[in-house]
Amino acid sequence: PQPRQRKPDWIRVKAPTSPGYVETKKLMREKGLATVCEEAACPNIGECWSKKHATVMILGDTCTRACAFCNVKTGMPRRVDPLEPMHLAEAAAEMGLEHIVITSVDRDDLPDGGASQFVKVINELRRTTPDTTIEILTPDFRNKHEAAVAAIVEARPDVYNHNLETVPRLYPTIRPGARYYASLRLLEMVKRLDPSIFTKSGIMVGLGEERLEVHQVMDDMRSADIDFLTMGQYLQPTPKHAKVMDFVTPQTFNAYAAIARAKGFLQVAASPLTRSSYHAGKDFAEMRAA
Ligand code: SF4
Ligand code: SF4
Repeated sequence: PQPRQRKPDWIRVKAPTSPGYVETKKLMREKGLATVCEEAACPNIGECWSKKHATVMILGDTCTRACAFCNVKTGMPRRVDPLEPMHLAEAAAEMGLEHIVITSVDRDDLPDGGASQFVKVINELRRTTPDTTIEILTPDFRNKHEAAVAAIVEARPDVYNHNLETVPRLYPTIRPGARYYASLRLLEMVKRLDPSIFTKSGIMVGLGEERLEVHQVMDDMRSADIDFLTMGQYLQPTPKHAKVMDFVTPQTFNAYAAIARAKGFLQVAASPLTRSSYHAGKDFAEMRAA
């Protein structure tokens, strides 16, 4: 199959201009925080930031890996900022967030993969904004994942998210530094250690996967007891990145969502512009209220 060039109508996004967007941007700069919304060139930034919903990236803006779909810069990261947990909690308090999503680059250079910084951030948020629900989106912590996951689970985030990103067949080209089954086992471990934590995972579509492969990923996720699923269209951030092989139609997304619900996920978000953290707070609040 040939890569697809032209974006269909359902992908167009509005340029971000609202006052909420400008305020969020200013606050992030003041606190020296990086967001995945900007680094990953997320198409929802106008909408999310105008509602003061952002995904904060801890442990710097430079990743030790270089996945074929990801716009975050690669290189040797700077040292860990000990004030980051405090600055992040201050920003969350100022924004009055009900739900915060925290993620990080992969820090294969750190002895604990960065797990202790996640723990410090969770603890600081619990102290400063006890009513904010906390969702963390972690890397796979490679061969350090057992200790890392145990430490983070003990800090008790409300939602533990880790993305499988794509179907196993495409890992060698799309997510070469990672192992599909290691990521599944990580999420299974979270649930085993503390069943009260909701687990969440997501994939991008349009990378050349077959429908049956997507269904298989859903089954694998359910076998690992994963509660929430997100699915969105992959968009090529720059010409250097992996090419878009298909623009999946909104109808196909709806069909995927129906199948996922039938397979028993508690919450499913599947649409062209769904991202791992899109509407995360709203969806989580609705689910808890239900
Ligand atoms: Fe991007 Fe995460 Fe891959 Fe790093 S590990 S390149 S942040 S997707
Ligand atoms: Fe940021 Fe997530 Fe919203 Fe994208 S979907 S702008 S990454 S919060």
